[in-house]
Amino acid sequence: MKKKLIKERIKPHLLPVEERKGNFKEVNLGYTEEEMLAECERCLQCEKPLCIQGCPCHCNIKEIIRLVLERKYEDALELVYSIYVFPRSIDRVCPHFCENTCVIGKKGDPVQIMLIKRYLADHFGLPPSYTNCAPNTEKHVAVVGSGPAGLTTAFFLAKRGHTATVFEKLPVLGGLMRVGIPEFRLPKKILQTEIDNIKKLGVKFKPNTPVEETCDFDALFSEGFNAIFLGIGAHAPKWMKIPGENLDGSIHALDFLREFNLKGRVPVGDKVAVIGGGNSAIDSVRVAKRLGSDSFILYRRHRNQMPANPPEIIDAEEEGIPIHFLTNPIKILGQNNKVSGLECLRMKLGEPDSSGRPRPIPIPNSNFTVEADMMIQAISQEPDIQPFSDPRLKFTRWKTFEISEEICETPVPGVFAGGDCIRGIGTVVEAVRDGKQAVRDIHAFLSK
Ligand SMILES: Cc1cc2nc3c(=O)[nH]c(=O)nc-3n(C[C@H](O)[C@H](O)[C@H](O)COP(=O)(O)OP(=O)(O)OC[C@H]3O[C@@H](n4cnc5c(N)ncnc54)[C@H](O)[C@@H]3O)c2cc1C
Ligand code: SF4
Ligand code: SF4
Repeated sequence: MKKKLIKERIKPHLLPVEERKGNFKEVNLGYTEEEMLAECERCLQCEKPLCIQGCPCHCNIKEIIRLVLERKYEDALELVYSIYVFPRSIDRVCPHFCENTCVIGKKGDPVQIMLIKRYLADHFGLPPSYTNCAPNTEKHVAVVGSGPAGLTTAFFLAKRGHTATVFEKLPVLGGLMRVGIPEFRLPKKILQTEIDNIKKLGVKFKPNTPVEETCDFDALFSEGFNAIFLGIGAHAPKWMKIPGENLDGSIHALDFLREFNLKGRVPVGDKVAVIGGGNSAIDSVRVAKRLGSDSFILYRRHRNQMPANPPEIIDAEEEGIPIHFLTNPIKILGQNNKVSGLECLRMKLGEPDSSGRPRPIPIPNSNFTVEADMMIQAISQEPDIQPFSDPRLKFTRWKTFEISEEICETPVPGVFAGGDCIRGIGTVVEAVRDGKQAVRDIHAFLSK
């Protein structure tokens, strides 16, 4: 019998706005079991489940939901963990591409796949097969970077019997999930638990261990590593290059969020202008607000073009954060070497540019001034490739590593790469997909 279409989704519980002030408690509290099951009931179990194509990792969502509806939670979890190493973390921050392609989305709200998967991972622990690994191959792989790409690579290499050692520059593990995304979206305890689980497979972690010029590829190979995976992310700030960026009170979002996420404190002004429309901008402005500043966003396009996850934009506005659209700063103003404001131009939208979004065009003589004593730029970032001076490596004009078209190997035999360092800032699920592809390619390389 054909299933009845239920157009409206079940909304998750959110921390009330008044309870978010001045603290970093998680905002999205997810579903109860009844709500999760009721949301699963909305799934039509399509013959051609478009949701699966939507997920960059091709997660078998239809089957997970079917198993949940039969109360076979353990089997559903097995499927989840066969794809993701840290489902509790990813299903808090993923832009849920799968929901954009869910067929119900054409007539109503798509099935809330991310929240269903999150409920499972939050409430049912690890599946029994979690620590099952192939016999030890005596092959060693150096994984550089402990972000989602590096963690995924290390975990699935261990599953195939290889020994992975993760070198991490920072004192903490998790990459931008740990030092970019704030606690109110992804609690550190949850991420840490998922990283600790990976250690159960024998993966070794070396925090505070940057791979630098002094530790080149040949040195790593002669130390006994048989292959190397580079998952160094995109951690070099990119600036707008407007006058005043060197004033006191001018900071890049990456530095602002990293300092706060590492130390639990960071200096903020009374009036903080955040420039940008992506996740870094929204996270920075919400952190600044929680730290007591009067913070706001300046964005040169309009709401529909903002790259940030839409629910986070709504949350920010509900928290009382103004977003000034069609506004482009052209100069940071200063007094006594400190930020005192921004000179801006009003913009209008033109024809689509190379990003497919309407090009913002300055309106002549529309200059105006915005008062601010701190400015956070969240425009862009690129990989920090400075330590990677091996002449055999090739880079794109965006400073990302070039890899071969078929596999994710760099021009240096045995050196592979994935995640943000091959495409620029992307998403966690894309980094996971890259990690899984890297494991396939590294395994083939090690099996030669
Ligand atoms: C503020 C912010 C919010 C975001 N929000 C979201 C979101 O909501 N949803 C989403 O899907 N994505 C989000 N992203 C993007 C997402 O976090 C990244 O796409 C993802 O983390 C990339 O994974 P990665 O493993 O390639 O790199 P990273 O997570 O950046 O990890 C790379 C790691 O390599 C380390 N490293 C770098 N150089 C060296 C070296 N020489 N030696 C040793 N270690 C090194 C770094 O310290 C870092 O720990 C956000 C990004 C930011 C900045
Ligand atoms: S990882 Fe993201 S895109 Fe994939 S199924 Fe989960 S929510 Fe959907
Ligand atoms: S596309 Fe939507 S309705 Fe169809 S199987 Fe996937 S989640 Fe269910």
